[in-house]
Amino acid sequence: MSQQFEAKRDTLRSKMSVRNYYAHMGISPALWELADKVLKNLRERFEAIDEIAQVNQLKVLHAMQKNRISAEHFNGSTGYGYNDAGRDDLEKVYADVFHTEDALVRSQITCGTHALSLALAANLRPGDEMVSVSGKPYDTLEEVIGIRPSRGSLAEYGITYRQVELKEDGSFDFDAIRSSLGPKTRIAAIQRSKGYLTRPSLSVDEIGEVIHMIKTIRPDIIVMVDNCYGEFVDTVEPSDYGADMTVGSLIKNPGGGLAPMGGYIAGTRECVENCAVRLTSPGLGREVGASLQINRSFYQGLFLAPTVTAGALKGAIFAAALFERFGYHCIPDARSPRNDIIQAIEFKTPQGLRAFCEGIQAAAPVDSYVTPEPWAMPGYDSDVIMAAGAFIQGSSIELSADGPLHEPYAAYFQGGLTWEHARFGILKAAQRLADKGIIQIGRE
Ligand SMILES: *Cc1c(COP(=O)(O)O)cnc(C)c1O
Repeated sequence: MSQQFEAKRDTLRSKMSVRNYYAHMGISPALWELADKVLKNLRERFEAIDEIAQVNQLKVLHAMQKNRISAEHFNGSTGYGYNDAGRDDLEKVYADVFHTEDALVRSQITCGTHALSLALAANLRPGDEMVSVSGKPYDTLEEVIGIRPSRGSLAEYGITYRQVELKEDGSFDFDAIRSSLGPKTRIAAIQRSKGYLTRPSLSVDEIGEVIHMIKTIRPDIIVMVDNCYGEFVDTVEPSDYGADMTVGSLIKNPGGGLAPMGGYIAGTRECVENCAVRLTSPGLGREVGASLQINRSFYQGLFLAPTVTAGALKGAIFAAALFERFGYHCIPDARSPRNDIIQAIEFKTPQGLRAFCEGIQAAAPVDSYVTPEPWAMPGYDSDVIMAAGAFIQGSSIELSADGPLHEPYAAYFQGGLTWEHARFGILKAAQRLADKGIIQIGRE
């Protein structure tokens, strides 16, 4: 080998090292060094996440093989959508993944809120009562239920609502739950992820224990779990503990980043059938609903979902570990077990929150050149800043961050279609804080 070539090769290889490429993308060597140190400490955590992803990958694979998924399943339907094997067998695959009798997985379910609203409205009747046993539900459900008066809410149909707060430490209040179950109680709702609250997210085992208690004393009560952001974070899902309906959005974990829309409800035959007739129409139910060309992305997204979720989890843990070094309060902290893919970081100042979101935006594959600005959002009492450079509008399995501009100026960070992207985005955000003089790297 000529000396000249050797020199050329070494220059090229050095230029393309991770460290230098990070520098090329605007990350200072000091930050890179620090991040590298933080990452080395996370190795065991990451291995455990890979093991969970492995189980979930096999779970999905098994469900697809069992249902003999073939190329024909990717042919869509139009019009009424009768005899759409791709659509119908996808629902069998979901039922097998969640170990339920049945599932409804549809592009006509427009988002997570819609899926939850559908599950509730389809299974409640006038005079029934719904109890949230995990405290205040996700913001958008307040209007669904009618906690905030709203056109078309369950309250307008004579369905009443009760709420049992979580205990101070974020755990279920078993005694209060037991005494909240009355003769009218028809649905008990549980939310796995904290959403935009700073309570801890609930583990599947904790949820399982509540389901067990409710079913022991009142087997007639339908238990619904809002599973948003929780799918594939663990090897076990709430449905494995007997939840009658496990509900979520396809532009979060189970869509694997490929589903461009949609929602799912996995559960008992009875509950899912009620959802089907409510989604379309009595008498028609699940027989209709053209899938157009969407089946392939639903299947392929589900197939990728375990690894995509694992990458997002690694990103969340890495973000907590790094930002704790800079003295920020992270929820959950870097050492806690994970029950969803959301990471909250309290910046304490609007400048910090803004810089973080700007960094996440600047790291995006799409719209990286725009600067996110706080703006007023319906349902929020202060401006909200959002960073999202996503392939799918609003997709929060893709790397994204948002936060309301009020105390404690917390950024809610989630997603990342690949761990490599999440890793870079987190460093880009930290670099932005450093560039603005909000943090000092090397002095943490
Ligand atoms: C995202 C989410 C929802 C539903 O949100 P959509 O934006 O309507 O998809 C409901 N509950 C929780 C906990 C969520 O994270």
